[in-house]
Amino acid sequence: MPSLSFKTTKKTSFVNITQHIKEIVKNSGVSSGLCLIYVPHTTACVIINEGVDPTVVKDISQAIEGLIPWSGLYEHPEGNSAAHIRSAIIGNSRIVPLENGELMLGSWEGIFLVDFDGPRERKVIVKILKEV
Ligand code: ZN
Repeated sequence: MPSLSFKTTKKTSFVNITQHIKEIVKNSGVSSGLCLIYVPHTTACVIINEGVDPTVVKDISQAIEGLIPWSGLYEHPEGNSAAHIRSAIIGNSRIVPLENGELMLGSWEGIFLVDFDGPRERKVIVKILKEV
């Protein structure tokens, strides 16, 4: 099962992993099916959004910071509750349909690994299901 590894560099990092996922899809030889992208971490997540204009992920990042601020009345002693909450709300997986051997992403869409508690090494598991 293909998995990818990324070293993030900041506390909050949006890593565009679209090309890596496209390569795994291509190497699978699967024409029609589903591609699952899963992050096995409690303080990271996967999003699909605007992948062409980088100001969009900056705006998303700022909005999340405002909604779930780093400091607050949290109980978790590790001090990274905001990262856990962000990951829980956004979700640690996405599924993209495959057709003609390609991800059916919209022309502006990109797939991002988002780390809310970096810098760390993060794993992304990719599972491709073939339509029968
Ligand atoms: Zn924690």
